[in-house]
Amino acid sequence: MTDTASLTGETLEPADLIDFDSLLRGEELVLRSAVRDFVDEQIRPHIAGWYEAAHFPLEIVPELGKLGLLGMHLHGYGCAGRTAVEYGVAGAELEAGDSGLRTFVSVQGSLAMSAIAKWGSEEQKTRWLPGMAAGEIIGCFGLTEPTAGSDPSAMKTFARRDGGDWVLNGTKRWIGLANVADVAVIWAQTEEGIRGFLVPTGSRGFTATPIAPKLSMRASIQCEIELTDVRVPAEARLPDAQGLRGPFSCLNEARYGIIWGAMGAARDSFEAALAYSKARLQFDKPLAGYQLTQQKLVDMALEINKGFLLALHLGRLKDAGTLQNHQISVGKLNNVREAIAIAREARTILGGNGITLEYSPLRHANNLESVRTYEGTDEVHTLILGQRLTGLPAFR
Ligand SMILES: Cc1cc2nc3c(=O)[nH]c(=O)nc-3n(C[C@H](O)[C@H](O)[C@H](O)COP(=O)(O)OP(=O)(O)OC[C@H]3O[C@@H](n4cnc5c(N)ncnc54)[C@H](O)[C@@H]3O)c2cc1C
Repeated sequence: MTDTASLTGETLEPADLIDFDSLLRGEELVLRSAVRDFVDEQIRPHIAGWYEAAHFPLEIVPELGKLGLLGMHLHGYGCAGRTAVEYGVAGAELEAGDSGLRTFVSVQGSLAMSAIAKWGSEEQKTRWLPGMAAGEIIGCFGLTEPTAGSDPSAMKTFARRDGGDWVLNGTKRWIGLANVADVAVIWAQTEEGIRGFLVPTGSRGFTATPIAPKLSMRASIQCEIELTDVRVPAEARLPDAQGLRGPFSCLNEARYGIIWGAMGAARDSFEAALAYSKARLQFDKPLAGYQLTQQKLVDMALEINKGFLLALHLGRLKDAGTLQNHQISVGKLNNVREAIAIAREARTILGGNGITLEYSPLRHANNLESVRTYEGTDEVHTLILGQRLTGLPAFR
């Protein structure tokens, strides 16, 4: 018997031309479906309003904890111990809702919690990680400064020893969720090189001010942090992080998540354009019936299929323990670049309606401007790959 639904693609992901799901394992599909349901029920109905109001919905944080999405790739201390592919699959679904949502999960899990899990003492892990995994404690990650972005080695924030304590002074910029966080991972110069510190945000001398107004990532908060003689005890220093390897190892976790997340935003943009083009009539025919529209849809779908394949391949390498740093750059550079192009192309199919918040593509495109900038800009990843190909560093 002919299954017309499968012939027309109605039961499949609309963009899936290659039976991508056959490459995913049972647990990965189950998790994807759970996160997709969460996004459909708790994010989609509200996201336009949150975006317009520049509001991050703090009430969803414990929900993300219940779903096991916070620090989900970490093991022990209340974390879900999921695979890299599962983490990626979840990230794609979250970012199909909004990049701000995936960014929160990324800052909390890949940056703040990873810093503690990779470089923290047993006492630090026990104190912070279970509450962070549950969404009861929010963490942020302070690396960037007003004058040190792509080159964090130029950071000026300094931590000096004072008896048994450390005293921190400096300014951090673009720090996600810092004004609602309970603990900040602060990277600072010291007499012994760059070190990381766990700074409770209630410490005297710590202030976090949201950066506003923004045209991108509006349903998410980034702050400038001022550290004025912030005193923390010796036990606040991450004992095992020395030099930029500390923060870079966390950035790699977050960059990996972006490879999947960006394709989630692209897929959602494509689906919005596809649905609109089938329903909208111009010159007596649905827009989808014109060759020029089909060309756009096909080009978008090809890049989405390729982008997810790349993400999955890199995820399987990560799970096998063989993923190399330059391969993360391949995924981050390619998938974010393609995702922005797809979101913008999807917007054209929506015509004038595409510039309203009723439809997702322009919101995704605007968000992706941030995604292409943080965790290494397009240019930084190009330089990483240029060095890999030529053997010649061109950063300076
Ligand atoms: C929404 C958002 C969230 C963020 N969240 C965090 C966070 O939670 N924690 C945190 O620490 N940081 C965060 N950041 C900061 C982010 O990582 C930086 O913005 C990023 O590293 C770029 O730094 P910059 O903005 O100072 O740009 P710059 O480094 O000044 O770069 C400006 C431009 O110059 C280019 N450029 C720089 N160097 C070179 C070179 N050698 N050759 C050619 N071109 C070059 C860049 O590619 C870019 O196009 C966030 C940023 C945004 C926008």
